[in-house]
Amino acid sequence: MGLPNRTIANPPQGRSACNPRPFPASGEVTERAGPAGRRGWPAKMSDPRNTIRGVSDVFADLVGQDEPVETLRRAAAAAARVVAGDEVAAGAMTHAWIFTGPPGSGRSVAARAFAAALECERAGIGCGECHGCHTALGATHADVRFVVPEGLSIGVNDMRALVLRAASAPSGGRWQVVVIEDADRLTEQAGNALLKAIEEPPPRTVFLLCTPSTHPDDISVTIRSRCRVVALRQPPASAVAEVLTRRDGVAPDVAAWAAAAAQGHVGRAKRLSRDTEARGRREAVLAVPRRLTGVGACYEAASALIKSAEAEAAESFAESDAAERVALEQALGAGGTGRGAAGAMRGAAGQIKELEKRQKSRATRSKRDALDRALVDLAGFYRDVLVTTMRAPVSVVHTDVAAQSGAAAGKWTAESTLRRLEAVLACRDAIDQNVKPDIAVEAMMLTLWRG
Ligand SMILES: [Zn+2]
Repeated sequence: MGLPNRTIANPPQGRSACNPRPFPASGEVTERAGPAGRRGWPAKMSDPRNTIRGVSDVFADLVGQDEPVETLRRAAAAAARVVAGDEVAAGAMTHAWIFTGPPGSGRSVAARAFAAALECERAGIGCGECHGCHTALGATHADVRFVVPEGLSIGVNDMRALVLRAASAPSGGRWQVVVIEDADRLTEQAGNALLKAIEEPPPRTVFLLCTPSTHPDDISVTIRSRCRVVALRQPPASAVAEVLTRRDGVAPDVAAWAAAAAQGHVGRAKRLSRDTEARGRREAVLAVPRRLTGVGACYEAASALIKSAEAEAAESFAESDAAERVALEQALGAGGTGRGAAGAMRGAAGQIKELEKRQKSRATRSKRDALDRALVDLAGFYRDVLVTTMRAPVSVVHTDVAAQSGAAAGKWTAESTLRRLEAVLACRDAIDQNVKPDIAVEAMMLTLWRG
C-alpha cells in the first residue's frame, strides 16, 4: 500500500493489561490484546438457539475457530481415554495450556469449553448436556476453578492457595481443572508459584491460562515453555454476525453492522447490538474527529472522553460495590454492642479497608478498559480514513460513519491520517504505562486536530 507497513501490522508495543489491539493486519493476528472479551458467559447450553445441527456442543460459541476447536476436541477425547485407563500416545493430552488471541476472540470461552469437555461424562466429547458439561460451563463444578482477577494483578497468596487445592484428587474422578483468566496479570511471585505446579503437575490436574499473547510481557518464558498453545484468531465479522443472529436472535442487518463496528470482538458486538447506551457512547466517540476545530475544542473533547469512561465504569460497579460492603458489614456483625464488639469492630475495619482497596483497583481497571474501548473505536475511524485514501480492498469498520471517514479521506493526506492513527495508538500505550489519562488524551486530541 506504499505505507510504512510496520505501523499498522505492529503498533507500538506496551504492557498490555488493558490494551486490545485494533488491527490484525494482513492475516497476522494482533500480538497484544486485552481483557475485554471475558464478561458475560453466554447463554446456557440447554438454550435451543445454542445448538449446531440440533446437537448441543460446548464449543458452539467459539466463533470462527475451527482449527483450535479441533485440537481441543482431540485432546479432550484423549483425556477421556486416560480417565478410562486406556493407553494414549505421549502428548495426546497436556497438563498445561495457554489460550491466546485478540480481545473478544474467546480465550476464556475456549478455556471454559475445554474444561467442560474434560469433565464431560460422554467420552469427553463436550456434549453440553451431561452433568459434567453443565456444571463446568456454569462454574459450579467441584473440580473446575476459575481465577478471574478483579483488580490489576493476581497475587501470590491467591495462587498458592489455588495450586494447593488443585493438587488434590478430582472429586468427580475425572480432572482437576484450573482456569486462569488474564494470566498476563500474574505477579512475578504468583507466576513462580504457578510454575512449580506446572513443572510437576499432579497426574489429574490441568491448567488453562488465558493471555493476550505469548509475548514475555504477558507470560513468562518458562511457563510458556511448559504449555501447549492454542492460538485463537480474530473471527471474521461475518462469523460474528452469524452467531449474533443464531444465538442471540439479533436481526441480520443489525448483527452485520455491530459485528463490523466491534472489530471482531464477539462480546462487544453483542453489547452494541442490544445496549443503546453503549451505542450512544460509541457515537459520541466517533463524533470527536469532526468536533476538533481548535485548541479549546481539543481540551473539551478530552475531558468529555475521560468523563464518559468514568461514568461507564462507575455505572458498572456502583451497585455491586455497595452490596459487597453491606454484606461484609453484616457478616462482621456491624452495630453489635455486646462484650467483644469493640474488638470485633477493630478487626472489621481492616477487612473493610481491604474490600475498599479491592474495589478501588477494580474501578481503576474498569475505567481503563472503558477508555480503551473508546480509543479502539477512534482508531477504527482513522483506519477507515486511511483505507479509503489508499483504496485498500478491505471493508471499513464503522460503516455508519463511512460518509465522514470518506470526507476526511478527501481532505487529509495519507501521512497526516497516519499521524492521527499513531497518536491514538500512542495514547493507548501511554495510559497503559500509567501516564495520567487526561494528559495522554489531551496530547492525542491536539495531534488529531493538527494532523
Ligand atoms: Zn457432556
